[in-house]
Amino acid sequence: MNTQPREIINQNGASGYLAIDLKALRQNYRQLVERAAPAAVAAVVKANAYGLDAARVAPVLYDAGCRDFFVAHIGEALRLKPSIGDRARIFVLNGLQPGAEETCADEGIIPVLNSLEQVENWSRTAKARRTRLPAMLQIDSGMSRLGLPPEEVTALAADPSLLDGVDLLFLMSHLASGDESENPQNADQLAALRAASALFPSLPLSFANSGGIFLGGDFHGAMARPGIALYGGAPTDAIENPMRPVVRLDVRVVQTRTVPAGTHVGYGGAHVTTGETRLATIAAGYADGLPRSLSHKGAAYHGGVRLPIVGRVSMDSITIDVSALPPGTLKLGSLVELIGPNQTLEALAADAGTISYEILTGLGDRYHRDYR
Ligand SMILES: *Cc1c(COP(=O)(O)O)cnc(C)c1O
Repeated sequence: MNTQPREIINQNGASGYLAIDLKALRQNYRQLVERAAPAAVAAVVKANAYGLDAARVAPVLYDAGCRDFFVAHIGEALRLKPSIGDRARIFVLNGLQPGAEETCADEGIIPVLNSLEQVENWSRTAKARRTRLPAMLQIDSGMSRLGLPPEEVTALAADPSLLDGVDLLFLMSHLASGDESENPQNADQLAALRAASALFPSLPLSFANSGGIFLGGDFHGAMARPGIALYGGAPTDAIENPMRPVVRLDVRVVQTRTVPAGTHVGYGGAHVTTGETRLATIAAGYADGLPRSLSHKGAAYHGGVRLPIVGRVSMDSITIDVSALPPGTLKLGSLVELIGPNQTLEALAADAGTISYEILTGLGDRYHRDYR
């Protein structure tokens, strides 16, 4: 996204300007479809499409050919339904919660069954309704997070009546280290999934997240489930990020000042200037998803010039050292770049000691959002 930010903005008095490039999102989906072929490619739109608004994101992906959507909670599934066509399927990753069975069945939402208990609950629901209900079966292949442990997989395979009334669509599992191309855990998990698959030979597999798509065809199964790569995050350490950036973030300057050497900056007086310094305060802080761990560490950019964060990140503002710019360059209402051509989402996350996922999902609702 190379569009220059508008120099002065005041849209609803917003603190900043979050541009979401829906064309890049669409191109990322198409790229993943090509890489994963012949596997189908679903879209993971949990956490409100990683903070980018599932109601805006999902229809674009549907239009690009996506027919399978994954969320974490049934509440997210219900909110997503009106945004996508009747021909799309919605899967709930966190599983079938007790009490959610009737809603799931009524609304045609497909649970990922993560335990024998959930299998039994879904089967009982189907039988009571004298119908068959679809589901996905998740096995734990080594992440110890969600899915049937090996002994439950064996028990289920030994007693198919446990699945009465349930139409299993896929056997799935999730990679713990899919973004690390050389991590031996990937092959271990693949072997575990294949062992389970031998017990359910008719079921197609769903395994790869974004990173898994880049691990090669063995990991693709019949349906991949990328999330972060759709939104422009780096999916793998094997190659330079091949995804198009989707998000650009520019934040407004709300005050500038010039201070002498020995001046304290920000909470705790934690930064002290060593010479005359030109400072700018920008209108976003940790409440806007710029973590406090960026204190003394991260930077904003203007015209390609790095402007280091000085002192601690506040809730609603950050102070940056703008001495590297000609005096008067930044004024009230000017914009500085936090995510964009000069600083990738990954670079900002690295400075904050976190991952792109956490930055995206934390951006919050105080920016003016522009969906293009
Ligand atoms: C979040 C999630 C994904 C998507 O992972 P990315 O790394 O964002 O591609 C896929 N599958 C499951 C089970 C998940 O929880």
